[in-house]
Parts: sequence; structure tokens; C-alpha cells
Amino acid sequence: MSTLIQSAKQFLLIDFISAFWLALRYMAKPRPTLNYPHEKGRISPRFRGEHALRRYANGEERCIACKLCEAVCPAQAITIEAEPRDDDSRRTTRYDIDMTKCIYCGFCQEACPVDAIVEGPNFEFATETREELFYNKEKLLANGERWEREIAHSIRKDADYR
Ligand code: SF4
Ligand code: SF4
Repeated sequence: MSTLIQSAKQFLLIDFISAFWLALRYMAKPRPTLNYPHEKGRISPRFRGEHALRRYANGEERCIACKLCEAVCPAQAITIEAEPRDDDSRRTTRYDIDMTKCIYCGFCQEACPVDAIVEGPNFEFATETREELFYNKEKLLANGERWEREIAHSIRKDADYR
């Protein structure tokens, strides 16, 4: 009996027609895949990517060298040195993050009282050497300048939940 059914299915091209119909149905649906890196998906405002140090709109560094981020970092990846300036404001003279230690927990961003250290939206920062992942203050400030628009947008969108 099963041989008879199998033969009938083959004769009527049932498998071919059902597969063809399935393909037609999926052709009409939106594609679930992205052609990365040419296309990129939406990321959450809470996405924790590459670190950045931000400045105020007048160019002044936000960081006040309170060292809360250094104290809270569970991986001890942050190293800060600070000195008072001539105007008695406190600013960092050194701000390093060892990105090979970082576990992207976001505690540094949460601890910062002035939204200076943040984890931005950039996830494309793979390197060929470990040394390139030892970030210094210049690198972090450059990241802040590069991503400020996206970072400010994410902070605004997440503000109601903080
Ligand atoms: S994300 Fe977490 S592990 Fe990485 S530097 Fe910030 S506090 Fe440290
Ligand atoms: S980045 Fe924020 S938490 Fe860290 S030292 Fe500067 S002001 Fe303090």
C-alpha cells in the first residue's frame, strides 16, 4: 500500500509542488537575514559596546576624576590618575581601560555621575594585537567625539528608565 502511495506522490509531483509552494510563500515575506556588513540591524539604546569618554558641548571634558568608575569596575580594567588644574577643577591626567579585561558589564557607565564614561554603540573594534586594546584617554575621547550623536540619542531614549 505504501509503495502505491509513494508511486502516486511521485507521479503527481506532490513533493515538488509543495516545496515550490513553500519557496513562493517565503519569497513574498520580508528577509530575516541581513547582508552584513553592508546592512546592519537596529541596536538597543542600552547596548554596551566600545567605551568612550564624552565632552560637553563647549568642548570641556565631562569627567571630574571622581574615580567611581575605577572603584566599581569588577575587572579592575580602569586606571585613573588625576591632578587639580590651575582653576582648581579636577581632571584626569591619565584614563586607561584595558579592554582585554573588560567584561562589558556597564557598571562604569552606571556609576558615572556626569555621563562621562559610556559604552557606545560601536561593536566593530576587533584588533589584530592585544596592544591595540589598551585604550588611553586620547583614544577614549576620540571615540566620544566620533559617537557623540548616537550616544546622546541613546541616553535620551533610556532616560525614563534610569
Ligand atoms: S564595562 Fe564593566 S568591566 Fe568594563 S570597564 Fe566598565 S565597569 Fe569595568
Ligand atoms: S568617568 Fe565618571 S565616574 Fe569615572 S572618574 Fe570620570 S566622572 Fe568619575
